[in-house]
Amino acid sequence: AALSRTAEVDIKGGWKVGDPVPYAALAKTFALIEATTKRLEKTSLLTSFLLLVIRRSANGDTASLLQSVYLCINRLSPDYIGIELGIGESLLVKAIGESTGRSLATIKADLKKEGDLGLVAMNSKNSQKTLFRPKPLTVPTVFANLKEIALSAGHSSQAKKVSIITKLLAACQDSEAKYIVRSLEGKLRIGNAERTVLVALAHASVLAEMEQAGKRWKKEKLAARLEEAANVIKSVYSELPSYDLVIPALLKDGIDGLKGRCKLTPGVPLKPMLAKPTKAIGEVLDRFENKKFTCEYKYDGERAQVHKLEDGTVAVFSRNSEDMSKKYPDLVHQLPACIKESTTSFVLDAEAVAIDKDTKKLMPFQELSKRKRKDVKVEDIQVRVCLFAFDLLYLNGEPLLHKSLVERRELLREHFKPVDGEFQFAKSSDGDTTDEIQAFLEESVKDGCEGLMVKMLETEASYYEPSRRSVNWLKLKKDYLAGVGDSLDLVVVGGYYGKGKRTNVYGAFLLACYDSDSEEYQTICKIGTGFSEEMLQAHYDVLKPLELSKVRSDVKVGGAKPDVWFEPKVVWEVLTADLSLSPIYTAAQGLAGERGISLRFPRFIRVRDDKGVDEATGPEQIAEMYERQVLAQGSGGKKKRGG
Ligand code: ATP
Repeated sequence: AALSRTAEVDIKGGWKVGDPVPYAALAKTFALIEATTKRLEKTSLLTSFLLLVIRRSANGDTASLLQSVYLCINRLSPDYIGIELGIGESLLVKAIGESTGRSLATIKADLKKEGDLGLVAMNSKNSQKTLFRPKPLTVPTVFANLKEIALSAGHSSQAKKVSIITKLLAACQDSEAKYIVRSLEGKLRIGNAERTVLVALAHASVLAEMEQAGKRWKKEKLAARLEEAANVIKSVYSELPSYDLVIPALLKDGIDGLKGRCKLTPGVPLKPMLAKPTKAIGEVLDRFENKKFTCEYKYDGERAQVHKLEDGTVAVFSRNSEDMSKKYPDLVHQLPACIKESTTSFVLDAEAVAIDKDTKKLMPFQELSKRKRKDVKVEDIQVRVCLFAFDLLYLNGEPLLHKSLVERRELLREHFKPVDGEFQFAKSSDGDTTDEIQAFLEESVKDGCEGLMVKMLETEASYYEPSRRSVNWLKLKKDYLAGVGDSLDLVVVGGYYGKGKRTNVYGAFLLACYDSDSEEYQTICKIGTGFSEEMLQAHYDVLKPLELSKVRSDVKVGGAKPDVWFEPKVVWEVLTADLSLSPIYTAAQGLAGERGISLRFPRFIRVRDDKGVDEATGPEQIAEMYERQVLAQGSGGKKKRGG
């Protein structure tokens, strides 16, 4: 409480709460958050800021809170609308030059020294002598400008972007330029995960309610209320991940009203439920002992969340909440034939899989990945797609997340009908012995699948958990059985020049995992074998434009020494023989001891276009994999049980 009172004074500055939210207050909050590593302090600082904004909202203004929250998570819209920032270094350097009169060469030299363009922009501004103090920036102005930049496309858009950024920078004071430039780059780098923002929003809302009611709750009661509110917001947001809808409802009805008003809604994709890896069938039985479970084929395609709205609109979303309706016009077209008349609106969880036109056999993911991501014309489609539905999350106006999987599956089968080569229910078997699972696993692999998904079938344990990697869903891939382990999704952060024939491309790459708590990339291995000349050229073409003058401050490098650094944008799926402790790399440092964990004999599998860098494998998962490996090595007998 002491912290929030001093923070409030500091953040508020000369702001009269009736006035528009000054961007300076937000920049001050960011600076305070950046200066601490303690999560509780970060939450409390953000709570202080959001409370000030909520007080301002008393006059019916919802935009200020909405825009402030978007700026805190550095987004401009819900994910599925996809208005994105991520302005390249050269454009920003140009704008900094134009607004401060410094030469591009000096700015670049500073960047090489600092490794943070935000800092360079701030220092460039502060070293400038100005006669007039510019009109202070406000949150609405900054938000509107960022949105205009993100939306400008086409012919003269570069010049337009530079001009808007130049004007914005000209109006910046103190640390504002630092955060505006980082926002434009696409990452704030203050260690402010979205979870922290949600918790702060809940806390600020409770404190505002308490103020409005003129009450002062006792410490214990307040603590319980804060915790409850944070859980409510997290759960509501996971069902309806749209601040555009959640924030106005929060301001109108408070935390208690939120649950009734904000529910899963067709048209707003929710983050999918994910599975934990298992290495052996025995592990599945250990976990699900005496419980009913089902095994489903794990199809090797692309996750597709299919929504049908009451007005008849059909939309297909990726696991990343990207609208894929333009990638899969054939799916959208095929769907009506699979829906029974009793079905008016729904949300399906499914896998889109490439199939052979004639034999209807499943084809591997690689076939699907040949498809363009946008503007696909039905007449140009070479590879046919069949939708394998495995879950039903919403039906005819009612969310089903809190029904058991048996019930959801029954409703799915009742309200949809399979059409050969277009729509099928995921093949499943509700067996419960090792032998049955083994036989079904082999069958799935023979039919062209990656293995099995094993899911809890009854009771609360089988409810759908959006955005969770849950123990109630286990994946059993054929690769695990060979003892190879689960694949990892890693971010390419550096490159090593090739040798011999390969001097015009990168010959090897530095990979990193992503820690969403600290928002940092932790290096994990160098990967350089298994690439064809063709692949190396393709990787070079994608990565060359992402080269940076210096390593970013949010990459925890350790002892790695690549020749070039990249903007972290590209995610690769990689397999490894095993994991080992490493004096060089930093992945999961502190979780499995002082040293980091690295991959031995990493092998490239594929580019994961469908994953953003913040969905890359995290340090906890890596530490967990390492621990399992140590355990398995220690008890060979148990490992064998699964085959
Ligand atoms: P990977 O796809 O590499 O296994 P991931 O991180 O994308 O990893 P996981 O949770 O590990 O996701 O595996 C679940 C994925 O498997 C889903 O996202 C979905 O695309 C796919 N899948 C295929 N068949 C099924 C099924 N029957 N039930 C659930 N998911 C399935």
